[in-house]
Amino acid sequence: MTNEWNTRALDIARFAELGAHGHWQTALPGLPRVQAVCEPGLALAHPSECTWSLLGQTRGSAATAQNWLHLQASLTLTQRCQRCLDPMAVPLSIDRWFRFVADEATALAEDDNCEEDLLAISSEFDALDLLEDELLLAIPLIVSHDSCQAPASAALGDDLPHPFAALAGLKLPKP
Ligand SMILES: [Zn+2]
Repeated sequence: MTNEWNTRALDIARFAELGAHGHWQTALPGLPRVQAVCEPGLALAHPSECTWSLLGQTRGSAATAQNWLHLQASLTLTQRCQRCLDPMAVPLSIDRWFRFVADEATALAEDDNCEEDLLAISSEFDALDLLEDELLLAIPLIVSHDSCQAPASAALGDDLPHPFAALAGLKLPKP
């Protein structure tokens, strides 16, 4: 059994020591911060579920052992294309290693000097919160199809007279 772990309060040292591996499915409502950036109608019409896993690992010898965590996740969101405004599938994928250090201050101080991401160790680590952070970072800033057309209504807008052009046609009353 791997799902005995509480993803809201994970004992990182124990998880790493055991080389534990957990695998979960979390529907979008279980990721409220991610759900909040999705258009409610689209999220309802295209329910999505995040498949994710954690792997714990201890590296180094006893005295200098470090606790590592591997997060892998995939989630397909339905978002609106910013050009044609049609819904489109936006697949997100996460594959990241984290190393745990003594506290937040150490994590901040050392973060610039290493490639991996650092987190403060905890016996009640909120892995679901980490998952949400990573998913939010993975959402592209601009969502659009590789090739599509702006909707007809916007194209029609180009044919309408420019407001200043229309003003130019007005005859000012003579003083
Ligand atoms: Zn489009």
